[in-house]
Amino acid sequence: MPVYNFAAGPAVMPVPVVNQIQKELPSLNGSGMSIMEISHRSAQFDEILQTAKQDLRDLMAIPDDYAILFFQGGGTGQFAAAPLNMATKHHRIAVLDSGQWATRARDEAANLGVTADTVGSSLADHYHHLPHLAAPLAKDTYDYLHITTNNTIEGTAYRDLPNANGTPLIGDMSSNILAQRYRVEDFAEIFAGAQKNLGPAGVTLVIVKKALVHHLAGLPSMLDYDLFIKKDSLYNTPPVFAIYALGLTLKWAKDQGGVDALQARDEQKAAKLYAFLDQSKLFHNLVKPEDRSLTNVPFVTGDAKLDQAAVDAAAKAGLMNLKGHRSVGGLRASLYNAMPEAGVDALIDFLHDFEQHH
Ligand code: PMP
Repeated sequence: MPVYNFAAGPAVMPVPVVNQIQKELPSLNGSGMSIMEISHRSAQFDEILQTAKQDLRDLMAIPDDYAILFFQGGGTGQFAAAPLNMATKHHRIAVLDSGQWATRARDEAANLGVTADTVGSSLADHYHHLPHLAAPLAKDTYDYLHITTNNTIEGTAYRDLPNANGTPLIGDMSSNILAQRYRVEDFAEIFAGAQKNLGPAGVTLVIVKKALVHHLAGLPSMLDYDLFIKKDSLYNTPPVFAIYALGLTLKWAKDQGGVDALQARDEQKAAKLYAFLDQSKLFHNLVKPEDRSLTNVPFVTGDAKLDQAAVDAAAKAGLMNLKGHRSVGGLRASLYNAMPEAGVDALIDFLHDFEQHH
């Protein structure tokens, strides 16, 4: 029985990537040493790091005036690093409150003494649609506007970016990077934890416009963009294995035809599942159709016990990790790039069958 992993993150990785890791693990390129054992200052690792950066630059069409940095600390680390590095003029940021991860980012900025204004929220609608700016952003007031491009828990994603009226935009792209095409130039900064569409947990990607980064006194070194630019992400020991696996995932993404090809496939997969849910009498996706995510599809029966029964029965059928986030319950199918269409077909068959019996 094939197993399909619908986890939200850490999440399914491409089969060829996992196989290559297995094959190369005892001895990387005939070195007699594994990737876990070589120095981050070695020529071998430098090649891995530079290749990963170039592949990402190609995939996302990242202009030369943007730095590509690798941090530890996850997306959550960037909830602190972004305001510390980028909210240094007005000490004030604007946040579009599209869900729990946006809220976390806002609260972390506030924790650090930055004023974080909610400039639009869909909380009152349980985040079933994307918030839009309640009024045009005041000019020269905010260091940046924070958005979560894809809301992993709530299942919404921005296709069109909000008009920030000249205010720089920072995007938390953790759960739809490489699944959806965005123009990097539209952002001052993009960040993403790797563990959904980029590889395993342990490394966090930051893409930042270099002209907006300044030397700042008093920052923790591990969150310091200027320092990481100067040291090419090698200020201290980076997560060597995670960067290696991310590099293999980027090669795979290129082999698949790049972001546009991946997006077309993700759209096809998501459209199939939404079409099923929209005609189902049992399972319902509550998100406003034009705001629906390609990568995270939450759905409910309306009965928590039945939701759990479906999650349990699915696991017995090899459809794993369909439980919705603990804060919203229900079910959630995460359909990242590495989820094959056959997995979506198997899920729809299962849900259809479950519906017949309940
Ligand atoms: N932002 C988004 C959109 C996420 O989905 C997550 C994690 N699921 C985070 C941030 C937090 O990331 P991490 O667990 O890597 O700190």
